[in-house]
Amino acid sequence: TGAFNAAVDGGDKLNAYAHKTPEIAGAQAEAADARLKSGDAPDLCGIPLGIKDLFCTEGVASQAASRILEAFAPQYESTVTGQLFRDGAVMLGKLNMDEFAMGSSNETSAYGAAVNPWKADDGVDLTPGGSSGGSAAAVAADLCLGATGTDTGGSIRQPAAFTGITGIKPTYGRCSRFGIIAFASSLDQAGPMTRDVRDAAIMLRAMSGHDPRDSTSADLPVPDFEAMLTGDIRGKVIGIPREYHVDGMPGEIETLWTRGTEMLRDAGALIRDISLPHTKYALPAYYVIAPAEASSNLARYDGVRFGHRAKLAQGDGITEMYEKTRAEGFGPEVQRRIMVGTYVLSAGFYDAYYNQARKVRALIKRDFDQVFAEGVDAILTPATPSSAFGIGAMKDADPVQMYLNDVFTVTVNLAGLPGISVPAGLDHKGLPLGLQLIGRPWEEGDLLNTAYALE
Ligand code: GLN
Repeated sequence: TGAFNAAVDGGDKLNAYAHKTPEIAGAQAEAADARLKSGDAPDLCGIPLGIKDLFCTEGVASQAASRILEAFAPQYESTVTGQLFRDGAVMLGKLNMDEFAMGSSNETSAYGAAVNPWKADDGVDLTPGGSSGGSAAAVAADLCLGATGTDTGGSIRQPAAFTGITGIKPTYGRCSRFGIIAFASSLDQAGPMTRDVRDAAIMLRAMSGHDPRDSTSADLPVPDFEAMLTGDIRGKVIGIPREYHVDGMPGEIETLWTRGTEMLRDAGALIRDISLPHTKYALPAYYVIAPAEASSNLARYDGVRFGHRAKLAQGDGITEMYEKTRAEGFGPEVQRRIMVGTYVLSAGFYDAYYNQARKVRALIKRDFDQVFAEGVDAILTPATPSSAFGIGAMKDADPVQMYLNDVFTVTVNLAGLPGISVPAGLDHKGLPLGLQLIGRPWEEGDLLNTAYALE
């Protein structure tokens, strides 16, 4: 059952790339060649990568898949992409994504949906997930060796799970946010999306490190994550949180989860049932906090400083310019987030929503702190409550249906922890499913090593 339908027509049907950058790739490849010949080859020398459109790349369109950033080409490079290029990586292009990283299916993109290279027997086009859907589709279909993603509530891990690849969201503060177009600043983190754990370890090292241009960037040494992949997890304590057995989850995902647990036990880990009691409040808290921060971050798109400006009529003033520009420039999901965000931050509702969500966030973080203090090294959960769904399948559904996709991933962002999704098998339709491991802060090396044991 199921067929992997990679790279038809050189992959163009997948709509994974928003902009291809062959000139830059050519120049970078030549430079990489010269470094190889001179014997000074850095870690990523000549490695072809795709870059999510959320990263500012100097002189190259960086639109966050939004009309409002049409024709925006920044004059500076994001820290993360700059570090990848420093280490010899070659950029093949900018990758499709949900508009401003808001979504779980890549369908909110101004470039149109990206397509999952995996198909079930009925041949229907499936979503690669989102928001880093282009990144996931490109890596899964071998249209690049690795890609950058960003994860605010699951946007690296869910698309990785839907396309059968590996994706890690590091600890908040591990990778600089400088030059990454902001969605929800207290949750956003960059991370690698790759074919396997080893590639993720290599790429994450290049992406990590302190940056004075991001005040939340951590001033901590970056370990050699690859060197930590020993596969030895004997004596590690793996927590299985009972609250992640959510209603309506397909039995085959439960089975997969049990199988993952057994693999870790067979490798010598100690399995422990744990409780994270505030889990059920994570999704509502996230969908208050993320839109609140987004409404503030997106206020800068006013038609003056960046990208798109609406055509104005005789007599239109500055208010009309703002209104028309923002009405044309932002898609419906982004407008919904701005409205929810301004509502929950408004004087009359701030305490009831935003403040309450912040308190819930602190409790969620405390749940994790507690289990880690009790000796748990990592937590194993499913990555998503289902496999990839059809493009357009949620078109008429309540937007909250789409938000439910993030049920296992948002807790990790709210608590600032590292989380990784690794491919764990296929469902009855032959589509990939992922398992998620959640680790202690700053211990991505250990987390990658545990994931390595699951591979
Ligand atoms: N799907 C979530 C959202 O729409 C997460 C997005 C993300 O991680 N960027 O907000």
